[in-house]
Order: sequence, then C-alpha cells, then structure tokens
Amino acid sequence: MSDAKLREDICFWAKSMFDRGLTGGASGNISARTEDGGLLVTPTGASFGRLDPGRLSRFDAEGRHVAGDKPTKEMPLHTAFYETRKSAGAVVHLHSTHSTALSMLPEVDEDNMLPPLTAYPVMRLGKVKRLPFFRPGDPEMGEAVRGLAGKRSAVVLANHGPVVAGKELEATVYAIEELEEGAKLAMLLRHANPRGMTDAQVMDLVRHYGVEWD
Ligand code: ZN
Repeated sequence: MSDAKLREDICFWAKSMFDRGLTGGASGNISARTEDGGLLVTPTGASFGRLDPGRLSRFDAEGRHVAGDKPTKEMPLHTAFYETRKSAGAVVHLHSTHSTALSMLPEVDEDNMLPPLTAYPVMRLGKVKRLPFFRPGDPEMGEAVRGLAGKRSAVVLANHGPVVAGKELEATVYAIEELEEGAKLAMLLRHANPRGMTDAQVMDLVRHYGVEWD
C-alpha cells in the first residue's frame, strides 16, 4: 500500500472510531508499517476526529523521525509491539470506556481479562492481558509489552485503555472494536450471572481458528 493510501486509511479509521465515541478529545493513537519498513504514526495532541494526512509523523526503517508532526508520547507502546511481534503491521490504542472500566474490576483475571461471552473476541484477540497502570508516556509501558515476549496481540493498560497489534490496519481496528464490545458485554452482564461459552467451546475456537492461546 502506498504512503498516500495508508495516510488516508489512518485518518479514515481514526475519524470513524472518534465519531462512534470509541476515543474522545485528543486521546488514542495509531501506527502502521509503510512499504519501506518505516512507520506512519498519529501526532501527539491530535484529535482522531480531525487528523490531517499530511501531518502524520513519518519514521524511516531505522526508527528515525523524518517528517511530519511530533509523534504520540505513547510511542513506546507501539515500538514494543513491532519489536516483539514480527507479524505486526499496525497498532491501535484507544481510551475506550468499557475496556477501561473492565480493567479496574477486582475480579478480573489479569492474564485473560475478557470473560468468554461471545466467539469473536476469542478469535480475533486470543487472551487479553491486563497490564498495570503507567503514567502516560512512561517508557515502562513499552517494557511491560516487551515482557510479554510477543505472545499477546492485545493488552489493556489499567485505568487507561486498550492496545491491539495486528497484521494490517483494518483488521487491527476490527480487533480492538471486538475487545471494546466484549468488555461492554462483560460490564453489562457483570451482576447477571450470564451463561458464557464453556471451556470446551472456547478451546474448539482456539483449535479451529489457530488462535494464540499461551
Ligand atoms: Zn493512552
């Protein structure tokens, strides 16, 4: 995909998610691999609702900022995913309500934080890891992602929001939307004692779709 098309796609998906209330104000950030092995990244302080394709931060294949506005201060999250997951072609981070709410609940299994209520979050995300709280921009966020050794494509930063890595941008957006929907169901059903999927049903999905499930 050309740089120009990728720039348009980043702005399209950002606006789409902003318009649907998935991240507000100037929150959230997106990065995506370019054909030459560099990155396009959303700038710091920019709203998803009105990104300018010509002002996205451009990095070369050596990780040098070569053009565009200053990148998001949450860049360590993005670089940690690219370094540990060679298949990663895009990373999306949101401050979405339900994933963030779920990250604060005491009963959440931090190694597999979404209860198995519907199939698609399992298929698109595998196990979702809850990471601790970090000050925004703290390089330790990146260290926490590196600590997962590439085994997880989806994490939620406690009291902050979700981060998902995927092969390309569109699929990564769909995956983080599944995470948010799964968290929304979990919050809606929190005290309802829902009949979720059984362990056997989850493992059947894992086998059938080759889901990473370590
Ligand atoms: Zn953030």
